[in-house]
Amino acid sequence: MSVQNVLNKIAENNIQFVDFRFVDLAGRAHHITLPSTEVDAETFVNGVAFDGSSIEGFRGIEQSDMVMMPDTESVFIDPFTDHPTLNVMCNIHTPDGERYDRDPRSIAQKAEELLQQSGVGTSAFFAPESEFFIFDDVRYESGMNKSYYEVDSEEAAWNTGRKEEGGNLGFKVGVKGGYVPVAPTDTQQDIRSEMVRVMQEAGLRVERHHHEVATAGQAEINFRFSTLTKTADNLMLYKYIVHNVARQYGKVATFMPKPLFGDNGSGMHVHMSIFNGDEPLFYDKGAYANLSPLAMHYIGGILHHAPALIALTNPSTNSFKRLVPGYEAPVNLVFSKGNRSAAVRIPIAAVTPKGCRIEFRTPDSTANPYLSFAAMLLAGLDGIKRKIDPTALGYGPFDTNIYELSDEEKKEIRSVPGTLDEALDALEADYEFLTEGGVFTADFIENYVAIKRNEAKAVATRIHPHEYSLYFGC
Ligand code: GLU
Ligand code: MG
Ligand code: MG
Repeated sequence: MSVQNVLNKIAENNIQFVDFRFVDLAGRAHHITLPSTEVDAETFVNGVAFDGSSIEGFRGIEQSDMVMMPDTESVFIDPFTDHPTLNVMCNIHTPDGERYDRDPRSIAQKAEELLQQSGVGTSAFFAPESEFFIFDDVRYESGMNKSYYEVDSEEAAWNTGRKEEGGNLGFKVGVKGGYVPVAPTDTQQDIRSEMVRVMQEAGLRVERHHHEVATAGQAEINFRFSTLTKTADNLMLYKYIVHNVARQYGKVATFMPKPLFGDNGSGMHVHMSIFNGDEPLFYDKGAYANLSPLAMHYIGGILHHAPALIALTNPSTNSFKRLVPGYEAPVNLVFSKGNRSAAVRIPIAAVTPKGCRIEFRTPDSTANPYLSFAAMLLAGLDGIKRKIDPTALGYGPFDTNIYELSDEEKKEIRSVPGTLDEALDALEADYEFLTEGGVFTADFIENYVAIKRNEAKAVATRIHPHEYSLYFGC
C-alpha cells in the first residue's frame, strides 16, 4: 500500500489515532500512538523516535535514540480500541537511517533478500500452527498462589480450568482427551469463532480452528501461509487478537509451551516451502514423499543445524519441558512422512504440487517469529548450498514407530537439546550459517546468548516448588 493509500485509509475510516509498533528480541510488540492530526506523508519518511535503551537487548543509555520506520505494507485497523486506530508495523532504524542490526523485522527481511540473491528461488513460504491454552482468569489468578500447574492424574485434570470443582464429571475433558470433541464437551467453540471473526476483520485469511489434544481448553487456529516477513507480521496480529479476545471473555490465553505438567504442551509447527516465481521447488513426483533433492537438502540443513537453531525456535526454559517423549512434541532429530515424534514431518495427505512442503515440529510460540523464521530459512539454504543429504547423515527417513526400534538402532538417533543452556552451547558453536550475507551479526548472537543465559540462570537459581515435596522432609 502506498503512503497516499494509508493517508486515504485514515481519512475514509475517520481514524483518530495511528499506532506505530515494533517487535523486541523476545518477540513482544511495543507501540507509540500519535493523534492522526499529527500524521502526514513526512511521518512515513522521518519515522517516529523512541528510546532504545528501555527495550531489553537493544541499545545502551549513551546511544539510546532509535527510530521506528513505518512499513505501509503492514497496516490494520485495531479491533480493540475505543477510538478508531490504525496500526502500522515498523522496522527499527538508527538515527543515521540505517536498518538496526538487532531489529528482528529487519533481520527477517534480510533473510528474504538473501534467498533472492542466492539464486535458489524468489520466495519462501511459511505457515505456523501456533497452539495456545485458554484458561479461566479466576483459575489463573488463584493459580498464582498455588505451587504450580500440574495435571499428573485424571482427577487433577477435572479441576483445571473449571470453576465447579468437585462437580459432575460428564462432558469434561481428561488428560490428553481434548482432540476435537463437539459441544458441550468443547466449551470454547464460541470464543475461538470470535477470535477468527476478529482476525478476518483485521485482514487475516483464516482456514480453520479446533480444540487441541490437551485438557483445559487447548486451542489452535490456522491462518493461510505467506512470505516470511508477512507471516511473522501475521503471527503478531494473531497473538494480539487471541490475547485480547480472551480478555474480553474474562479469560486469559497463554502461548507458554508447557503450562501443565503431565499433559500436551503447545507447539508452533512451521510449514515451509520455496518457490521460483510460480514453480514449487520442493515437489518431485514419485520421489520419497514427492520431495525434490532441493527439499531434501533443505531438510538436511534444518536437521544438521537443529541444535543451534533450537536456541532461536525454542528460546525459553519452559520450551524444553515440552520437548519430552509422549506428548506429540518432537524429541528425535529425524525426518519422516507421518511420525509425529520426528522433528521434520512431510505432510502427504491431500497435498498438491504447490502445497508440497515440510513441517518443522520443534518450534513453539515463545520464538520471535522474525528471528526464528529467518534462522530456519538460513539453515535450509545452507543445506541447499552444501547439498547436505539427511539420509547419508543418518537422519532418516524413519517411518516406523521409533519406540519399537532396537536399542542399537535407537542409539543412532540424535535428540533435541535437553535444556536452553544446551541449545545456547550449540548456537555458540554453530552460528556461521546465520551470518551468511550479514543477516545475523556476530554481535547479535553474542548479545542474544548473554540475555538467554541470564534467563536460564534466573530460573535455575530459584527454588522450585517440587523441591519442597522432594527434599523439605529431609
Ligand atoms: N501439541 C503438540 C505439540 O506440542 C502437537 C499436536 C499436533 O500434532 O497438532 O507439538
Ligand atoms: Mg496442533
Ligand atoms: Mg502440525
